[in-house]
Amino acid sequence: VKDFIDKIKNELDDNTLYLDPEKEDLGTYTSDWTKKFNGNTPLVLRPKTTLHVSQMLSICNELGVSIIPQGGNTGVVGGSTPRSEEVVLSLSRLNNLADYDPASATVVCGAGTILKTLHDFATDRGMEFPVDLGARGQCQIGGMLATNAGGNRVLRYGLMREQVRGLEIVMADGTIVSNLNRLKKDNSGIDLKQIFIGSEGILGVITQAVLQLVPLPAARRTAMIALSDRENLPILLSEVRSRFPGLSSLEVLLLQVIEHVIEYVDGPEFPLPKQFPVYVLVEEETESSSAGHDGFVERLGGLFETGLIADAIIAESSLQSERLWHFREATGEAIVAAGFTHKFDVTIPQGEIPSFLDKMENVCSNILGARPLLFGHLGDGNVHVNFVQTPNISDKNFLAPASELAKIVYEETRIRKGSISAEHGIGMLKREFLIYSKTPEEISFMRSLKKSWDPRNILNPGVMIPD
Ligand SMILES: Cc1cc2nc3c(=O)[nH]c(=O)nc-3n(C[C@H](O)[C@H](O)[C@H](O)COP(=O)(O)OP(=O)(O)OC[C@H]3O[C@@H](n4cnc5c(N)ncnc54)[C@H](O)[C@@H]3O)c2cc1C
Repeated sequence: VKDFIDKIKNELDDNTLYLDPEKEDLGTYTSDWTKKFNGNTPLVLRPKTTLHVSQMLSICNELGVSIIPQGGNTGVVGGSTPRSEEVVLSLSRLNNLADYDPASATVVCGAGTILKTLHDFATDRGMEFPVDLGARGQCQIGGMLATNAGGNRVLRYGLMREQVRGLEIVMADGTIVSNLNRLKKDNSGIDLKQIFIGSEGILGVITQAVLQLVPLPAARRTAMIALSDRENLPILLSEVRSRFPGLSSLEVLLLQVIEHVIEYVDGPEFPLPKQFPVYVLVEEETESSSAGHDGFVERLGGLFETGLIADAIIAESSLQSERLWHFREATGEAIVAAGFTHKFDVTIPQGEIPSFLDKMENVCSNILGARPLLFGHLGDGNVHVNFVQTPNISDKNFLAPASELAKIVYEETRIRKGSISAEHGIGMLKREFLIYSKTPEEISFMRSLKKSWDPRNILNPGVMIPD
């Protein structure tokens, strides 16, 4: 490592390109958002250009130095921080964002661009970047592509993968593979970018992307509805999908989640009676900005007539909409505030969600006696399962059954033909459980890709692929 540091300092000859732990506090680079993953680093590299990234990787590869690509460090599976003594490659300064082409509605965006910055950039041009998630003020486009992030509007617009036209990658040996085209149609051979999207930094470093923007909707309408029976969730989903043509979000929150958010995060009063077991947030993008004339109220009325919903409230303004969204958006903060959490992010075929929720509650009470917080993107079958520590359980007792719990949750997912990672990725946290979602043949294929593109195993070693 000493040779490496000397070489980096000599060859790059610019001391703004790295941060030295002997001179700076590097805590924000070595500890992750969940605080469960902590390590050390001999150096944080801070390239300003793709060429810098190429030079840095070439030196790392030559000397066999492991490197962790890092974006906003909001990932929750332990993929973005060092485990022992790896070098951190922070992409934050690759944040160019200017080259907007109105004809194709595409923009060239540096990997280090923060999601919120891209949102504002698009809005200023009457457009929108449709992927949105709670970490918007910190997560970066490169990290979001590396994890194929989803978020609140997957139902209408898809995940990150669906927004990408072109990608620039730096391979482990420093080779730059650039295809920053703006084309929707390009069937000229294998679409290599798809292999890097969702590859969690183990195959190459994403440095730039061409992203598709969409027109800003005239309006967004939001309602919170209450259900008296969780068994009705699948049928509700199909009714909402067929009645609301502009449906952009359908988020489910069990009563316990609402109560937990109220307990741990300051915010508005919950506007519905807290007597129903399940609440669902519905958001629709409408073609008219005139609230009374966009058909939203009538569509919701029709839903009432099905007898599926017990109560509902419609937001009359964007402020009221934000207040309804608060109960979904504040879940992350409320969970962290309570103590340790066993966190799972799975996809379950929508028809199986009620039985899966029942099972998760039983597992949580039988094994931990803790608080189950179950919510998620119902429209995508994505359930966030959180077993949250309560004051009567010691840290040791709470954390001890981690592996046993994971096996149960993932087995329940597997038998329902679901996925153990809906959107957060595999990272360090889930790699030993990848077998619950991928066949041995698929894992072996991943391993051979890794071997041929990163033969010295310098890029994010230990992440995703089980030993
Ligand atoms: C409050 C909160 C809400 C969240 N909500 C959602 C949600 O709704 N949907 C969702 O999908 N996720 C969600 N997440 C998880 C997280 O925000 C996403 O995974 C996000 O995409 C990570 O981006 P990042 O820039 O922080 O990446 P990091 O955490 O820095 O890195 C994530 C992974 O990508 C790799 N990586 C980072 N940058 C690059 C690069 N340029 N090239 C190659 N590899 C790279 C890292 O090595 C690591 O393996 C949430 C997280 C928080 C804290």
